[in-house]
Amino acid sequence: MIQDDSGHKLAECFERLRWLFWGYRAGGIRDWQYCPSKPRKEVQAPVAAETLSKELPVSGPAAGQRPQAESTAAAGEKLSRISSELTGCARCRLHSGRTNLVFGEGSAHSGLVFVGEGPGVDEDRQGRPFVGRAGKLLDKMILAIGFERREVYICNVVKCRPPENRAPQADEAAACSPFLFRQIEALAPKVICALGVSAAQALLGTTRAISQLRGKVQFWRGIPLVCTYHPAYLLRSPSQKAAAWQDLKEVIKLL
Ligand code: URA
Repeated sequence: MIQDDSGHKLAECFERLRWLFWGYRAGGIRDWQYCPSKPRKEVQAPVAAETLSKELPVSGPAAGQRPQAESTAAAGEKLSRISSELTGCARCRLHSGRTNLVFGEGSAHSGLVFVGEGPGVDEDRQGRPFVGRAGKLLDKMILAIGFERREVYICNVVKCRPPENRAPQADEAAACSPFLFRQIEALAPKVICALGVSAAQALLGTTRAISQLRGKVQFWRGIPLVCTYHPAYLLRSPSQKAAAWQDLKEVIKLL
């Protein structure tokens, strides 16, 4: 008889295979070579800003001007400080519709940070990023590249929900992005993945379209930045999943 945990693990394997086969179907058999046979890592408990695991590996010296976490404890402390500076934040109009501020969560363990646009209704209710429908797809994308959700760090450009699920306006993104930048600096990831145009534009300080930004590795303060489609867009336009898979393969290569 399959125990609960095994059932969950099996379901995760199927999800991973499902997403991988989308990629293979789109990319052809040569793509088998790209398949990451990552050794499974010790899984960390989900980590919120305040409790970034003390066991996370300390980043080694990095090339160029990449920001570096001095130590995992220091990274956790920095994140806590940034998070506490946002308590009761009213720096932009989005605060008025907020139920919960969504700071971000996860681990620096994988060296991978995903940046989305801003909380939706589910995220606002729970105070956690990407927990709605788009989040379920993001979970599958993360599984497909060999990680569990709790092994990566997930955050957004704006920490409060824009009304009617609209994109953050320029002044809202400008008010919040210094906190995002400090978050990323504290985490010192190996790769950043921008989910959608708002994240890509906020990180790169550009107004270029996502179609112009994806397909080529960009850099944020020396850290490789892969721009891809937002999972909510992929839900509306599943034919673009093949392109998103190409972007995810780039993330795997960079890691
Ligand atoms: N969309 C985002 O961009 N971020 C979330 O956290 C959820 C949905």
